[in-house]
Amino acid sequence: MVNRKYDNLISGQWVAGVKYAPNINPSNINDVIGDYAQADAVQLDLAVQAAQAAFPAWSTGNIQARADALDKIGTEILSRREELGTLLAREEGKTRPEGIGEATRSGNIFKFFAGECLRLTGEIVPSVRSGVSVEITREPVGVVGLITPWNFPIAIPAWKIAPALAYGNCVVLKPADLVPGCAWALAEIIARSGIPAGVFNLVMGRGSVIGDPLVNHPGVNAISFTGSQSVGGRIAQQCVLNLKKVQLEMGGKNPQVILDDANLTQAVELCVQSAFFSSGQRCTASSRLIVTDGIYAKFIEGVTARMAGIKVGDALEAGIDIGPVSSLSQLEQDLSYVDIGQAEGAILVTGGERLMRATDGFYMAPALLTDTTADMRINREEVFGPVASIIRVKDYEAALAEANNTPFGLSAGIATTSLKHATHFKRHSQAGMVMVNLPTAGVDYHVPFGGRKGSSYGSREQGRYAQEFFTTVKTTYIAS
Ligand code: NAP
Repeated sequence: MVNRKYDNLISGQWVAGVKYAPNINPSNINDVIGDYAQADAVQLDLAVQAAQAAFPAWSTGNIQARADALDKIGTEILSRREELGTLLAREEGKTRPEGIGEATRSGNIFKFFAGECLRLTGEIVPSVRSGVSVEITREPVGVVGLITPWNFPIAIPAWKIAPALAYGNCVVLKPADLVPGCAWALAEIIARSGIPAGVFNLVMGRGSVIGDPLVNHPGVNAISFTGSQSVGGRIAQQCVLNLKKVQLEMGGKNPQVILDDANLTQAVELCVQSAFFSSGQRCTASSRLIVTDGIYAKFIEGVTARMAGIKVGDALEAGIDIGPVSSLSQLEQDLSYVDIGQAEGAILVTGGERLMRATDGFYMAPALLTDTTADMRINREEVFGPVASIIRVKDYEAALAEANNTPFGLSAGIATTSLKHATHFKRHSQAGMVMVNLPTAGVDYHVPFGGRKGSSYGSREQGRYAQEFFTTVKTTYIAS
């Protein structure tokens, strides 16, 4: 059977790639979703030129038309959430309900930023000089390059594209090569929304081929990147050399503190949810469970019992808790970290092996490691799979110190019934997002998202804070 071909979107036209790559279902590697275009540097250049050409009219155009287009995109995503969520589950391996949830979030993001088109404000302030007034206004940055990872194939493109367009920028999107399906479906919806040709362009392909040409293109004014620390750091260097605005959202090694006074049932559930669901492939997943002495034994018993009930299987199958991991290389990485942890002295309590199912896919039993210490690689490096380790500490103060003992700082959680400890943790956690009696993963779409230390660089994404990145400030002095 011949697979359907999906092309790049450049200047409002569907353009054949220089070659095509198959998009493979990680639950069943014999299921090919389609063949997706691969661009080269020449096509990338055409996409940037199209965005540059569209910018003058779009950036100064009617904001009601912008709002209407974004609202239309959001409405279509929401009305097709089941179909898009199913596609997401098929290409990335999240369960279908998780996929539908992510599609819903994406629709809501476009609706939120449709409203933001009409809410951009400035300031008028008195001048220190008499007879002068001062206006502070925000303007779009220009052409923005958006580079997205594979683990949220529709939500991350949505939370970059929607604010970029709302604030009057033109876009070149390069989605992760592993999951081009959702990005293509989103591009197809955007292409029919009434947005003029060239305002939004989709260029698919490998980061190693079109990443550098996008980041270094003189016609691109800003880069918003989500992905690994290694790629992000390299992009930041290139942007600084080219004096481009840059925003990076990267990895995490998120701590979940469990204190003696925690509600045990709640603590077990929130840890299992945030460590293992979505196959642990969330930048906000809890991978370090920091547990105080008094609850330690009961907590491990509770988590192990709960993990025994987790169903791993085909992402499209009803009743499944966890789908496969996203690719063979990710599976190999996850399994190798289980070995690394044990070689460092950790004890594997449960899971950590490859699972076979009716179809040939990348299935793994979630792994729990105990007796780990902060200096072990398993507690310092991001695994990005269903692998969590437990660190035992004597009290709250030691737990807080351990939680902050990481080069990352994305999300951090505490399970406690103590208002004093929750309040102290909220203030002293060195993370961008803090959760009290909630999983470290799972955030709202209308408020800022991002981290500190090695997890993020530049201004926050999402909510109204997105305007910091997608606009630039102008100060105008007027003689009266
Ligand atoms: P990745 O390998 O860094 O890739 C991210 C994106 O960068 C992909 O589109 C990739 O393209 C592209 N890329 C690769 N090399 C490039 C280059 N030289 N120049 C420009 N772009 C290049 O990350 P991933 O494996 O897709 O995603 C997992 C990582 O994302 C984890 O570290 C996770 O924590 C992080 N993440 C962070 C957040 C957050 O908001 N903090 C959210 C989600 C995920 P190809 O893959 O197509 O080659």
